[in-house]
Amino acid sequence: MGSVIQHMSRPNRIVSNARQAIAATIFLAVTMAGVAGAAPNLPETVPLPGQRPAGAAGDAARANKSACQKKLKALGVGFSPQPPVVEGGGCAIERPVLVERLAPGIALEPPALVNCATAETAARFARDIVAPAAKEHLGAGLVSVRQSSGYVCRPRNGTKKLSEHAFGNALDISGFVLADERTIPVAASGNRAVRDFLREVRGAACGPFKTVLGPGSNADHAHHFHFDLAKRRNGATYCR
Ligand SMILES: [Zn+2]
Repeated sequence: MGSVIQHMSRPNRIVSNARQAIAATIFLAVTMAGVAGAAPNLPETVPLPGQRPAGAAGDAARANKSACQKKLKALGVGFSPQPPVVEGGGCAIERPVLVERLAPGIALEPPALVNCATAETAARFARDIVAPAAKEHLGAGLVSVRQSSGYVCRPRNGTKKLSEHAFGNALDISGFVLADERTIPVAASGNRAVRDFLREVRGAACGPFKTVLGPGSNADHAHHFHFDLAKRRNGATYCR
């Protein structure tokens, strides 16, 4: 059973985990009903000797959730936690967040639904890489990042394998809005300063993001950067 689970793809594993959780809940309910029948005065809050508190797994999940979301708060990200996403075909986000601001003074437009790790990486990218590069190359602050895809339940173009977008693990960025109201689209440009700016942010994105695609990668990415956190062996990146 263990090895079967190990070889399952991620969505199946999530479904399988959910089934196990449901089975465990039913078992626990039946067990507790039995206990309650035998000893009706047993206080609900005192676990039986050796018994794990019923909420331990849930508590761990909540602690994990708040650890990442606490980081978002510390970074000044504007977001709201959303209910888990589970869609047919294996698309899922366990703890999604809807992000509308990447950092104080830097909006994400329109707001994007992503997983917390993607939100954190995008926030650091905007604050530490894009904003300083905009000042350096274009002489203006960054006020907004335009996105064209966060969570989308779909396969990768031309394949049956689910896209990282289907896990909220990817963000497509189509442009940057500056404090002087210029919009810098992600596309081939004849302007040298714009080219330098886009080249710098694209290069620096590779590392924090594990996949970086954009104009020149292929026809699908002529007008946006695709950034994702796909896990590869030894944390390898794929940047083209
Ligand atoms: Zn994409």
